Amino acid sequence: MSEQLTIALSKGRILDETLPLLAAAGIEPVDDLARTRKLVFETTAANVRLLIIRATDVPTYVQYGGADIGVAGKDVLMEHGGDGLYEPLDLHIARCKLMTAGVAGKPRPQGRVRVATKFTQLARQYYASEGQQADIIKLYGAMELAPLLGLADEIVDIVDTGNTLRANGLEPREIIAGISSRLVVNRAAMKMKHERIQPLIEQMGEAVRQRLAEA
Ligand code: AMP
Repeated sequence: MSEQLTIALSKGRILDETLPLLAAAGIEPVDDLARTRKLVFETTAANVRLLIIRATDVPTYVQYGGADIGVAGKDVLMEHGGDGLYEPLDLHIARCKLMTAGVAGKPRPQGRVRVATKFTQLARQYYASEGQQADIIKLYGAMELAPLLGLADEIVDIVDTGNTLRANGLEPREIIAGISSRLVVNRAAMKMKHERIQPLIEQMGEAVRQRLAEA
């Protein structure tokens, strides 16, 4: 019997866009994921199970071996730091940008800037690299409110179309990084389970290339 392989995913775009890539590698959930509250799912592949956890927990599960493999946004991976992880494949899914934004028509103040974000490490690094003094305020959601209510001058957040910013009277400013989701692998698992993981990386990589070619 082959050893167990555990793959960590998060709900939403990442799950929806990863499932076809996993299917190309012969891995499909047995249950209908939309219709259950379970967090662990058996799949059609022998000894391969899926975990559904919070996006920000995926790198941590993979780092500590709770999962062998995971799919996480580059934003989440950069904020985590990437310790204990290999990042062998860009899946080119859930693409967006990490950006600064502020109240439309109200320029960033001279001197210290107050920045609300859930990406505190990335924001700190970005403003430091710009030579801009910044006080970083950690928020867990609804960042768009912070500049409107005077909590912050700018936010650092994920932007796709920019509609969320505009609907809240904000304007996108600088692009900090282009983001897509990546396959990550626990370093020890990559060695110990290489014969199972390497073909999975190759099959998913082929599915990504096909998808890009058709786009
Ligand atoms: P938009 O209005 O299209 O710019 O989308 C912005 C909001 O959608 C952001 O506040 C994010 O919370 C979310 N979002 C869009 N794309 C992604 C993504 N690839 N990963 C995570 N969140 C995203």
